Amino acid sequence: MKQFIYADNAATTQLSKDAFEAMIPWLLDEYGNASQPYSFARKPKKALSDAREGIAECINAMPEEIFFTSGGTESDNWAIKGSAFADPDKRVTITSAFEHHALLYSCKAIERYGYPVIYLMPTTDGIITTETLIGTISNTTRLVSVMYANNEIGTIQPIKELCDVAHSHGALFHTDAVQAVGHVEIDVQELGVDMLSASAHKFNGPKGIGFLYIRNGTTLLPYADGGTQESRYRAGTENIASIVGMVTALKENCTNLNRNMAHTQSLEHKLLKSLCESHIPFVHNGGDNTLPGLLSLSFAGADGEAILHRMDLMGISISTGSACDSVNTEISHVLKAISINDSLAKGTIRISLGKYNTEADVHAIVAALKKLLKPKP
Ligand code: PLP
Repeated sequence: MKQFIYADNAATTQLSKDAFEAMIPWLLDEYGNASQPYSFARKPKKALSDAREGIAECINAMPEEIFFTSGGTESDNWAIKGSAFADPDKRVTITSAFEHHALLYSCKAIERYGYPVIYLMPTTDGIITTETLIGTISNTTRLVSVMYANNEIGTIQPIKELCDVAHSHGALFHTDAVQAVGHVEIDVQELGVDMLSASAHKFNGPKGIGFLYIRNGTTLLPYADGGTQESRYRAGTENIASIVGMVTALKENCTNLNRNMAHTQSLEHKLLKSLCESHIPFVHNGGDNTLPGLLSLSFAGADGEAILHRMDLMGISISTGSACDSVNTEISHVLKAISINDSLAKGTIRISLGKYNTEADVHAIVAALKKLLKPKP
């Protein structure tokens, strides 16, 4: 039988069995609309409020600060558009040049309406420094939005420090933590952020569900008008099954956070070590402080696209860069932003290991790379 190794966990993750099982009753039996007043709605209503509490607990928030969305893209759109249009006197948004397209294209949209956006450049190690932000921020800045961890190179940003700078200039702070929630510890009180985006399918929950954390007292326009759901900020009948799946997956990952981190970090170290021993020359992008298990590797003179397809033929799923952008084969905006040269950028792949990966997977990945890339004599 052909092997199958999934090493693209930054694109999406396998649904946890417990999350799947927790969803079933809400699809088949308890399908009542949580907003209705009759007794058949009581259980879904309770499941909704329990889920809100459960999610809040995982990130040290208050339940009423959790707003369910359809995922990371919607949460990012809401944070950017909902804050830009909320205050005509403070019209400037500051973000980084290497955000996910959900964030960048939301910024492009507000620019079309005449709201200026400033794009901060990261260091070559993939960090947005406080100095860069201090050099740009002013009292016309409405929002600073910097991702918690980059989805292509994994670098973790100094969010608390950046957030302090934003607040000292009277600006709000949002972070796209889609790659981080459920994988590293997230404490919104400790970070001080006003808004935070998350997506269930990145932490072994179902697809099409996520949340936006909005700190109590933050002025933000509603995302969708209609019914009274989500305190009238995001109307639409709640997707109870997916919400229950999401909270089950998040609790599971948060309970096992240290063990999962140790596991993926150890797989990552093993992969790097055996790649070094194989004498294949490579560059590991993103500096030292990266998400556990996420590896951006560049092979000078190679073709990342070709590596991806040849590994696929061997039954191994990896990525060249952002999975949300597999149609666009240009050099990724993230690699451009960290100024790596064109030859390395073209030869870049992303391997993202998750909690279900094994040492055997790592051996198979390195063996495949050895077949495809010439070791140095
Ligand atoms: N933000 C980041 C950093 C991501 O990696 C992704 C997905 O790859 C998204 C946002 C979009 O999330 P979703 O797929 O839930 O819309």
